[in-house]
Order: sequence, then C-alpha cells, then structure tokens
Amino acid sequence: MEAAPGATATTEKKKSSSSTSSGGGGGAQVKRTRILSDAEWVSAMPEDEAAYFRANAKDSDFLEEAKVLCTCCAQQVNHKQEDMVARHPILGVVMCKRCKAFYFGGVWRRDEDGYFEHCRWCANGGELICCANAACKSAFCKRCIKRNLGRNKVSEAEESEDWRCLSCDLSQVRELRLMYYSVYQYWQREKGREEAKEARRLEREAKRQDVVSKLQKEADEVSRALKEGLFLRKKAWMNAKEKHGDCPPAEVRIDALNAASSLRRLINKARRGLGELDKKVVEAMSESYPGGRVGGGDVAAAEEEEEEVGGGEEDLTSGGDKSSQVILVQRVSRQ
Ligand SMILES: [Zn+2]
Ligand SMILES: [Zn+2]
Ligand SMILES: [Zn+2]
Repeated sequence: MEAAPGATATTEKKKSSSSTSSGGGGGAQVKRTRILSDAEWVSAMPEDEAAYFRANAKDSDFLEEAKVLCTCCAQQVNHKQEDMVARHPILGVVMCKRCKAFYFGGVWRRDEDGYFEHCRWCANGGELICCANAACKSAFCKRCIKRNLGRNKVSEAEESEDWRCLSCDLSQVRELRLMYYSVYQYWQREKGREEAKEARRLEREAKRQDVVSKLQKEADEVSRALKEGLFLRKKAWMNAKEKHGDCPPAEVRIDALNAASSLRRLINKARRGLGELDKKVVEAMSESYPGGRVGGGDVAAAEEEEEEVGGGEEDLTSGGDKSSQVILVQRVSRQ
C-alpha cells in the first residue's frame, strides 16, 4: 500500500495455496467493494451475533463515561460525535477518521503468492501473520492483534497450522464489534431524542400560532360589529337630518340625545368586547409561553411611544401648537 511507504512487510507464516484461481498475483490491485452503511451492516448481521449484540450492547450511561480507542492507532476517539468515528470496513470495529483515510488512501497490493502486503486491520506493514484460508489471503500485523486482542491471540495465530484470520472468523473480534455496534446504537438513540424534541417544539409552535389566529379572528369580529353599528347609526342620523334640514323641531333635538346615547352604548359595548379580548390574549399567551411577558398592556406607555413618533411630548413643554399634535393610539390593530 503506497500510503505506508518504507514499511516492509515480513510475512511470518504463509500457507501455500493449492488454488491457482485466486484473484491475486504479484502486484495485482484489489477491487474495491461497496461498503455497507451502518444500518445495512446491522441488518446483514447473522442472527446469533445480532442477538448477542442486542443483549450486551453498552448503554448510554456507560458510553457517556467510556473512553473509546481507535483499534488501528490506539488514539482516543470522540465516539459521541458520529462524524469522528468510522466502522472498520472488514472488521466492523471502531477506527478513527485519520486511520480510515489512511486505510483507503493507498492501493492494496498482493505479493506474488496472492497475500495482502499490508495489515488488513491498520493498513501498515510490519510482522504479518497470514490467514490459512486459501480463499482469503489476508494478513494481520502482530501489533494490531496484540494491542487489541492480547499476547495470547498472537501466540494462538502463530502456533496454529490452520489459523482463520480475524475477517474469516469475526467471533475473534466480537467484543470490539460490540463496541462499534453500541456506539452506533448510541447515535441512533441521540438522533431519535433530538427528533422527538424537535417534533414537540414544532407542535408547540403550531399550537401557539393557532391561538394567535383565533384571537385575531375574534378581534376582527369586535371590530366589524363596531364598524357596522357605527354605519347604521350614522345612516339613521343623516336620514333624520336630511328630513328636517337646518332647523329641526324640538322632537328631533330629543332624537339627537337618543342617537348620542345609542352611540355611547355601542362604544361601551365595543370597549367591553375589547377588554375581554385583551384578557384572553394575555391568558392564552401566558399558557403558551409560561413565564414570558406579553407586552402592550400599558396603554399610557403605548401612547407615549406613539407620541414620540409624532414628536409630541417635547412640543407640549416648549409651548408648541397643541392642535398640530397627532396622537395615535393603536390598541387593537397593533401587530
Ligand atoms: Zn486511528
Ligand atoms: Zn495492523
Ligand atoms: Zn482470512
């Protein structure tokens, strides 16, 4: 592998293959196969291993505290962050991003006997132990085996005449695979939690918007009732005026008093309606945003604010022309 220049592979044990149809051959490049996604990896797992993993996966409490190491370089990885950890392409164990880049950064070559020239775990050279499976031709470095599986595993591999490598017999790295599986499940749980939180937030926001829309509609009702009432009264009054001209008889003057009373009733009714609506707005918003303050209730402050826009207050004290002052009060229609 070109990514590891200068690393010479000394193959400790080679099983000569009787098969001549192996895909290898001196210096032949190895075809890349598509790497499964984590989800595909889990669903492709043999049922007995999947059952073992489900039963023995490390829980979130454990993983919150755990130190997880890259199995290739032994550096600690930030396993809580999905993009900091990779799954080893053939062993399904934890590897860091740097080691993954190194692993895929060069060309995997085989020697003249068809064996891989670099460790299939860490992609480095070194003292390699070769698989006895004629169809496999993988080799693993002693450093990787010793660091991850202990000295005994090295002896076992060296002494066995029929050693099936780690990729041929994955049960040898089962506990390390379990760690990757556990970390993957941890990410899934965290993702699920985040999604549920976001869904709850959106639901809450939709409810709040609903409440506001309802209140706006009620405000429209009050406003329309007032407008209609005013229109009808104005029309009746104009009709009466038209009939009697500029010199109304005494009964028309009484009618004027009645019309003024009716107008007052209408205004007060609208005011009551607005008062109730204002209460509703405050109640609904306190329910939707507990602890949040709904501004706009202090009418004097609101008026002052509006006066400032028209430059009112200062003019008053400096003796400015009162008739030119515009006081805007927007109690209902303020957005
Ligand atoms: Zn690493
Ligand atoms: Zn290695
Ligand atoms: Zn093998």
